[in-house]
Amino acid sequence: MEFRPIQDPEAACEPTSDFDAVLVIGRWGESRLPATIQEAIERIRRVHAAINDRVGLHVAPELAGGRLVLAPTGALDHDYDDVRSFAEAAAEATLLARDAGSRRPLLLVTGVPSDPRFAQAREVALLGAAAALWQPLEARERGLVPDPECITALGFEGDPALAQRLQAIEAGRRLARDLGGTEPERMAPPRFADECARAFTGLPVTVEVIDDLDRIQKEYPLLFAVGRASLAVERHHPRVVRLEYVGDGPIERTLLFAGKGVVYDTGGADLKVGGHMAGMSRDKGGAAGVAGFLKTVALLAPPKLRVIAELGVVRNSIGADSFVSDEIHTSHAGKRVRIGNTDAEGRLVLADLLSHLRIDALESENPALMTVATLTGHASLAVGPYTIAIENGPAEYAAIARSLSAAGDLWGDPFAISRSRREDYDFVRGRTKADDILSCNNAPSSQTVRGHQFPMAFLVLAAGLDAHAKSSDHPLPFTHIDIAGSGCMADDWQHGSPSAAPLVALTAAFVE
Ligand SMILES: [Zn+2]
Repeated sequence: MEFRPIQDPEAACEPTSDFDAVLVIGRWGESRLPATIQEAIERIRRVHAAINDRVGLHVAPELAGGRLVLAPTGALDHDYDDVRSFAEAAAEATLLARDAGSRRPLLLVTGVPSDPRFAQAREVALLGAAAALWQPLEARERGLVPDPECITALGFEGDPALAQRLQAIEAGRRLARDLGGTEPERMAPPRFADECARAFTGLPVTVEVIDDLDRIQKEYPLLFAVGRASLAVERHHPRVVRLEYVGDGPIERTLLFAGKGVVYDTGGADLKVGGHMAGMSRDKGGAAGVAGFLKTVALLAPPKLRVIAELGVVRNSIGADSFVSDEIHTSHAGKRVRIGNTDAEGRLVLADLLSHLRIDALESENPALMTVATLTGHASLAVGPYTIAIENGPAEYAAIARSLSAAGDLWGDPFAISRSRREDYDFVRGRTKADDILSCNNAPSSQTVRGHQFPMAFLVLAAGLDAHAKSSDHPLPFTHIDIAGSGCMADDWQHGSPSAAPLVALTAAFVE
């Protein structure tokens, strides 16, 4: 699907134009729409009293394709209103047009409130429309007829530079959703790694896949423990995927991401029971989102920026060689970790990746470390469908979470900011001299006080970032990002479409 910029909406609305439907998103009361659209709206209003209340498709012979879809956002003057209303209205309008037979709709956004929180309403609407059209990789690979994604172009009023930016964001998001949303065999670790290699062919991102099990055991010992039960099945063997982008010119900023890519999470020996396993192919959404972000970066090719990502792609299986609670493993950073619960595997995978990135960060220009993961059920219980950011002292000082949150608010990819507290560190402290850190307690995170905050403390300790606090000689900003609540759309984490959060916010915050 191509974002097609137009300069003259009047001409683009004509029945002779290349578009085959006109979608109007927003509020049309006082807007400056082309006269033909205004007249059509007046005509429809006479016979349809609810055009300001609900999305509707109307016959309009005077417009392109003879179709006019009106998608009202409503008033948007409450304190709690936000720009996502434009994405939702645009998504509904686009699907309605598609189902009516449109293949090249023109999407016009109008009546945007002057409040700064709606400054990107047009971009958010276009991304909302594109997001609604995505269909899972399994469906596309079956070659279903008609093509499940049959819209080929989306017109909008704007310039080619914006079209290019939207195209790059959408390409990254599609990769993230394909990697994150696909079933566990099609996206088993080796195939996930292959998909990454394919996605970056011809782009300025290097892809290194670590598949040597001895090396993984030595350099990523906690990740290896998680993957131990998967070793019985070769096609489920773990991979570490390392991606790197280096922009032109002197590097001024380095972003370092660890992504949780648990392609399937059975819980391991602490098996998920009572119907809590379905949907666990989505436990790779963090790694998927990071890979998608790299794709967007590669397509936009920003100068002076370097991005390094390590993705831990592993299956938390159950079997005779499963790791179990009470085992003690020494992390890459040299910390002795006692396993508290094998279903708390994501933090183990991330800790080793983060430790490698810590070493990269010490040699990097203006580094910012981030972990991205569907980590805790507590995240979605605590804040619902929002991405959570929790930062250490240096990241707080650098206002990383506040930048992400501000960008996310504008671009419809919102965050909630949590604080890291001393109780979180007490919670994971080793209980005996036998170990340094306890990975987890034994209740579901959703029944644990500070269930989404304390894993961040674990990551800091297990990855050796405790030596890089604000008071240290080498402070390193670290922000933990939990997408357990935001990783799927429509609040259906088991079967909903993956959202690719927080790719849009990351792009808005960090990529010029
Ligand atoms: Zn788990």
